[in-house]
Amino acid sequence: MKWLSAFTLLLFVSVAQASEEKPKNIIMVVGDGMGPAYTTAYRYFADKKTSPMIEPTVFDRHLVGMASTYPARVSGYVTDSAAGATALSAGVKSYNGAIAVDENKQSVKTVLEQARLNGLKTGVAVTSQINHATPAAFSAHNESRRNYDAIANSYFDDKVNGQFALDVMLGGGWKYFIRDDRNIVDEFKSAGYQYIDDLTQLDSLKPGPVIGLFGDEGMPWALDMPDKQRLPALVETAVKQLTNDKGYFLLVEGSQVDWAGHSNDIASAMAEMHDLALTLEWLEQYVQKNPDTLVVVTADHSTGGFTIAANGNYQWDPEPLKAVTQSLSSLAKSMVNSKTPMDLAEAGLGYKLNETEKSLLQKVDMTNSKALYVQLKKLMDIRSNTGWTSSGHTAVDVQIFAMGAGKDHFRGHMDNTNIPKIIFELMQSK
Ligand code: MG
Ligand code: ZN
Repeated sequence: MKWLSAFTLLLFVSVAQASEEKPKNIIMVVGDGMGPAYTTAYRYFADKKTSPMIEPTVFDRHLVGMASTYPARVSGYVTDSAAGATALSAGVKSYNGAIAVDENKQSVKTVLEQARLNGLKTGVAVTSQINHATPAAFSAHNESRRNYDAIANSYFDDKVNGQFALDVMLGGGWKYFIRDDRNIVDEFKSAGYQYIDDLTQLDSLKPGPVIGLFGDEGMPWALDMPDKQRLPALVETAVKQLTNDKGYFLLVEGSQVDWAGHSNDIASAMAEMHDLALTLEWLEQYVQKNPDTLVVVTADHSTGGFTIAANGNYQWDPEPLKAVTQSLSSLAKSMVNSKTPMDLAEAGLGYKLNETEKSLLQKVDMTNSKALYVQLKKLMDIRSNTGWTSSGHTAVDVQIFAMGAGKDHFRGHMDNTNIPKIIFELMQSK
């Protein structure tokens, strides 16, 4: 009997705690493609050389668990971002390409829609186009992630509880929202949304719904923008616009960690991680002041088979990655047809090229920016001793980080579909 009453007491305590922990605001953050190698490498990248210790990062401070990422059996073990986001938004395994639909292409309810049904405000703040796979799988339903125009249409045409799915949309996407056949931005404006297309306008927004688009597709690489003026600025604004008495649900995505991974571009990978880390540091402060907010951070999968040290050499050097002053892709474009391409390369890379590096660059057709970009990435891999095994995704488990109200529910190993299931439960608990 004794153990039974102790158990009953324990159950009572945990339920009581759970009710106290019911978050008012929920912020889900996806680092697209951010496998464990990325957060580890970021620790070395961010390490202050002036102190003997390797400082823990914002990721280290809030690690709570790991999640498996495999999609529905029909798609094998390796997920894409659409099936990954559907698992994270709806708790349903689907086929690669699915945008919040199940294997039979039937719509499945997402945590963002549940928030809407509960009367909360909702938003997305991402560095990809706002109708890209991850934000789309929280805010719309489609049988294929490639139906970008149809997904953009859905943002205006499909209603949740008689309302638009999203109060706040911040990211890229002019080519999908301002088209010859349809101008969805104008439609949102007629419906009372503020529209901005330049980051300097973020501070001048009035309270109320907003669509802010800052690129034709995704936003520029983090390396081509000043610190804190990209994802941190979007998230700070989204939170400000969404804050209200009933609470809000916000989906944040560091979308381009994945794009850097696909491209095997270690300089951009670390800069995208830095942009996301600055965002999480801001959220860390925000949760301290607003402990009724839950922040859950995870990845949909890892990308590129990124390895920290390659070729049997026990060494990885992030220093050259910190010296870079612009993205290698924009550097490559500026080198095309320049009279002084080697000077440009040294200015962009932030270091003096050695003879081997010079000759590697001189081998390339200087009129071909794509070939130049490939070669600049190769120089970076050699300098830093970075390895890659793929231009696609890999099936390694990803980490879960959490802060604020209810964070302990995400401890341990779980399947990625359990993350939204827990969030659905937290939203229902009284
Ligand atoms: Mg994504
Ligand atoms: Zn990807």
